[in-house]
Amino acid sequence: MISVDHALRIVLETAQVLPVRSVPITECSGLVLGENVISSENIPSFDNSAMDGYAVRFIDVQNASRENPVTLKVVDVLPAGKVSQRHLENDETIQIMTGAPLPSGADAVVMVEQTEKKNDNEVLVFSPVQKNENCRKAGDDIKAGLVVFQKGRLIKPYDVGVLASIGKSTLQIIPKPTVAILSTGDELVGMDEILPPGKIRSSNNYALRALIGKMGIAVVDLGIAKDTLKDTEEKLRSAFSADIVLTSGGVSMGEFDYVKQALEKLNVDIKFWKVKQKPGKPLVFGSYQSKLFFGLPGNPVSTIVCFELFVVPAIKKMSNVDHYMPNRVRAISSALIPKKPGLRYFLRGVISKNDREFIVSPMDNQSSGVMSSLSYANCLIDIPEESGNIEAGQVVTAILLDAQTLNDLMSN
Ligand code: AMP
Ligand code: MG
Repeated sequence: MISVDHALRIVLETAQVLPVRSVPITECSGLVLGENVISSENIPSFDNSAMDGYAVRFIDVQNASRENPVTLKVVDVLPAGKVSQRHLENDETIQIMTGAPLPSGADAVVMVEQTEKKNDNEVLVFSPVQKNENCRKAGDDIKAGLVVFQKGRLIKPYDVGVLASIGKSTLQIIPKPTVAILSTGDELVGMDEILPPGKIRSSNNYALRALIGKMGIAVVDLGIAKDTLKDTEEKLRSAFSADIVLTSGGVSMGEFDYVKQALEKLNVDIKFWKVKQKPGKPLVFGSYQSKLFFGLPGNPVSTIVCFELFVVPAIKKMSNVDHYMPNRVRAISSALIPKKPGLRYFLRGVISKNDREFIVSPMDNQSSGVMSSLSYANCLIDIPEESGNIEAGQVVTAILLDAQTLNDLMSN
């Protein structure tokens, strides 16, 4: 049996960043960039108007005012998408729409609100403009040759518009790993089936699918394996087309726990079995070529706690995400927590903040079968292996279960 930290070290050493792949930009949000993106063009690629108005030579309108408007001759009308053939001469203007290329000779744009049509060919200008006012210069946004996004960046939806504007339709990105899940147990039936005596609904695969889905990862659900070596082995054989294989159940000391034996038959390299932790002691971890295997214990809370502590960091490491460990804060325990030295405890708790400090309360029922307490919890209280009882008022570490909890704590 190894410590949690040792186990985590093995998992993270085994989990390798996945090779880059070419992906259309619309599917890249939330993925890590595997190349430097360099723009070959200026954006915008030509000087253009930022306003609907009149392109002018700023010098011609420098004395314009409401009382003494300047009259300019309108020599062209320029919608977006069209280039004017006219060069602007003294006291001439071209009516221009937002986004239209600035005509030759023009060096500023007067907003339409500061003008009034005098007749079909002339316009009154009521206000001076600075040179380049209301103009967007070529390269203002992005200069040609610039590294727009660096390798390692987590792509945001906003980035997709930038990429489209420079004509980059696909990106080299680090993909997220694919995950296959398999539940094991003769007692399990599917959610839509009638529940015969002694059977339970297989909830772990639903919980895992939701957790994995939240990370933007597609899941292959391989269903339920019977508690026989044959069925477990058969179902696992097909699973390793995924980058990560998760099973739940069948890893304890029971008569019918066949996962380890099946792994041995499939030549999975078992790196560890059993971790000094509660819940989740029977956790199995191994690798098959570059694929990872996690044999999660069947108790629903153990499944999820092991998923959060070990599988999430592995998924993030393979996806090349920088911060793969969960957020932790120091908090004061509101109650006595009975504990014997030997195993590291991860207790479900509710953390809150008063004006000075974080307070954490352990949930009343810490049995690893009590799944609902995870729904009501927002953190795991992490108590070291060697620790005995924690007294009320003692400082402990709380692992925050989702980003929302951190936001809630920070906004209070
Ligand atoms: P095991 O690790 O197979 O001994 O299972 C431990 C406990 O978890 C038993 O009470 C199982 O019935 C329960 N369990 C195993 N798999 C699932 C599952 N997919 N959904 C809900 N409970 C499960
Ligand atoms: Mg079982």
